[in-house]
Amino acid sequence: AKSTSVSQALIFGIDMKDELTHSSQLLKDIRQSIVDQDFLIYLQPKLNRDETLIGAEALVRWQHPTRGLLNPAAFIDQAEESNFIVKIGKQVLMQVCEQLSLWQRSSETQHLTISVNLSAKQIWQSQFVDDFMLTVNSFDIDKSKLIVEVTETVLLQDIKDATEKMNRLKSHGITISLDDFGTGYSSLNYLHRLPIDEIKIDRSFINDFAEDEQVKLMVKSIVDLANNFGVNVVAEGVENIEQFDLLKEFNVDVYQGFFFSKPISLIEFERYLLT
Ligand code: C2E
Ligand code: CA
Ligand code: CA
Ligand code: CA
Repeated sequence: AKSTSVSQALIFGIDMKDELTHSSQLLKDIRQSIVDQDFLIYLQPKLNRDETLIGAEALVRWQHPTRGLLNPAAFIDQAEESNFIVKIGKQVLMQVCEQLSLWQRSSETQHLTISVNLSAKQIWQSQFVDDFMLTVNSFDIDKSKLIVEVTETVLLQDIKDATEKMNRLKSHGITISLDDFGTGYSSLNYLHRLPIDEIKIDRSFINDFAEDEQVKLMVKSIVDLANNFGVNVVAEGVENIEQFDLLKEFNVDVYQGFFFSKPISLIEFERYLLT
């Protein structure tokens, strides 16, 4: 949700004070919830074309003390602006590593990967790679099972610094994924320069591409291009069988979306693993 601008407030007479009070309360709540460790991960399954589970994306949820379970839309912008996302991101990463280390113990689950979303504010920390690896190395995990998702917008803000940091993560065995692919301006130009192992075609392209020839062609071109570069392709936001079938025809490698499963809690995921 967008907050009210000053001009809107003047024109429409909206009480800005309410909004400001509201957002400072949100920041207080975020601060307290970092201490109380109320930020949890949900996992959304990622499958291959045979619908075999290959891993999951970790998506943060806020178990708010009074408002219930909140999606990122309710807090992620404020968490970014205030830099609290750096601490939340660390708690998310620790939970991801914890889960990977549990999966590592069983031959049934040790092949599964987990993807973690990185915010710009995390990456632009000068000690980002060292901090990240310090956390990861405090767990006994196979680092190739850990995938970081970054958006093109973030990488392009400072391509030199971003490339250097992604290269360092890669040299430690971490897999790099380019999220929301196709929504930026110069995806295709930069693909060969970035140390990318995987792209995730943005949900907006998958949404209604079955009816739109133009979008269909674009998705097909993206997949072909990625395949030529030896980059893995994930389609996110797959909601129905028509989309799934078409994407399979295009040789997409990995599928994620409500058609298979919504993001679910760790407990629900354990149950999902049994089916
Ligand atoms: P994202 O990284 O693009 O994540 C995918 C979003 O699409 C998730 O929303 C997921 O629930 C949703 N989604 C998955 N499949 C479908 C589908 O078939 N249909 C539809 N309509 N939606 C689908 P969610 O969990 O609300 O997360 C929203 C965004 O918040 C994420 O977008 C990501 O940018 C951010 N986010 C989530 N977790 C984290 C985190 O731990 N750290 C950071 N920095 N950002 C996060
Ligand atoms: Ca993502
Ligand atoms: Ca995405
Ligand atoms: Ca997105």
